[in-house]
Order: sequence, then C-alpha cells, then structure tokens
Amino acid sequence: MRTVIGTCHCGAVEFEVDLIDGFEDIRRCNCSLCSRKGAVMAGVPLDRLRVTRGADSLSLYQWNTRIAKHWFCSVCGIYTHHQRRSAPDEYGFNLACIEGVDVAALGEIGYGNGAAQSLV
Ligand SMILES: [Zn+2]
Repeated sequence: MRTVIGTCHCGAVEFEVDLIDGFEDIRRCNCSLCSRKGAVMAGVPLDRLRVTRGADSLSLYQWNTRIAKHWFCSVCGIYTHHQRRSAPDEYGFNLACIEGVDVAALGEIGYGNGAAQSLV
C-alpha cells in the first residue's frame, strides 16, 4: 500500500489517500456540477482518505438530492473530494490535487455518466 498526499491550491487543506493498486476508477463526470469543475477524479473507499489539515477550511456543497457531499477549500475554492451519491461508501477525489500527478499525462479520460446515472 502507498499513501499519497493531496492539497488544495492555497495549502490550507491537506489530505492523504491510501492506494492499494495505484489510482482506481479514474474518470471525469458529465453531471451539471462536475462538468463545470472539469476535474479528473479517482475513487477510494471512505476509510482510505483522510483530511489531515484544514478540515475547518473545507466548505460543503450539496444540491439536488443532497446525498452527495462535495467539499472544496473555502479559501482558494479548489474542489478536493466528495462522497458519492451512487456509492456513499466511497470518496471521489481530485487527481490534480495529488502531489506528483500530472493529469495531462494521463491521456484520454473516460466520462462517467453522472448526469444519467447519478454517479456523483
Ligand atoms: Zn485552499
């Protein structure tokens, strides 16, 4: 297992993700929120992501069914992670926040159909 560190842009928020087999479930999402963010996300079970700094700087955004929880830094506005509506036992997180990850180098990223299937 490998633990990677993610940060928002201003550094107020830091989180750790435990990876067992690299990044899993890499995707974008076409729902009305994610398509505006444009983020590339990966997924992990809840117990493999921990906010290690700045939990009090995170803001929570909920919409529509208000089941999914979308967190972002209240200082710099960067989306860090969210608890999924389709799989509440998983977090999605922003790959671009992870140290050493170059999202542009990941190549073509598929889209989850969150607009139709509530993947977010
Ligand atoms: Zn920030």
